[in-house]
Amino acid sequence: MNTLLPKISKSDFDRISNGIKRWRISTTEAALLIKEAHEKKIWSFKYDSFKEFCEKECGITKQWAYELLNTSKIIQKAGFKSLTHAQARALSDVDEDQREAVLKKAASKGGGKVTASSIKESAKSFFEDAEERDEGGWVIPESILEDWNRATTLSHLLTKISDVKCVVEEGFKSNDVCFTAINQNVLTSLKSLFADLKQLIPHAVCTTCQGHTRDKCTFCKGRGYLSEFLWKMAVPAEVKAIRQKAVK
Ligand SMILES: [Zn+2]
Repeated sequence: MNTLLPKISKSDFDRISNGIKRWRISTTEAALLIKEAHEKKIWSFKYDSFKEFCEKECGITKQWAYELLNTSKIIQKAGFKSLTHAQARALSDVDEDQREAVLKKAASKGGGKVTASSIKESAKSFFEDAEERDEGGWVIPESILEDWNRATTLSHLLTKISDVKCVVEEGFKSNDVCFTAINQNVLTSLKSLFADLKQLIPHAVCTTCQGHTRDKCTFCKGRGYLSEFLWKMAVPAEVKAIRQKAVK
């Protein structure tokens, strides 16, 4: 055991890692926690490195963690307290030294309110090629972008299910008498509900209709995009390979 590493409490570890996991809906808050995780070496509670903590515990790459940190700094500087994932993504496409100006422009146009699409619109005049991309780097067609962004914000439902699961698990663990009326089946149901709802979250532009002719597409059911589950389980490896090659 490395004696130079700080002593980390489980509650600190849980608070920080859970907050970072919510980066899609509260990017600025997550970014502050990433900073805290880095400074306090919170990763040492369970992992060998910050990178491992990001990837295994929080499900994000180290690079994205730093990107969130950068974005958050700009947002705070521009006086915006909270930011959704969609807004952060819109902003992350903007050159770093133009972000503040883009945000201010978006805010002044929207009477103080900023949305992902208003950020994107304002960014266009600063940065002509601002394009949103899916998790694999494929450009999301403009025609499905609004639905994509709206669906992305539904990840707050997943957070709620996670919260419920945590409370029930804690109830069981502490042998709380209030929880004696239910059993482990509840946790199984919650896990299955979480997996079902996760299918609402966009992961990749549909590989069948490419998001362009989504109305009649039975693969994506008219959405123009696929969930991570569908991408992993139903898209043939050769189709994924073609797309990955095209992105490079
Ligand atoms: Zn489709």
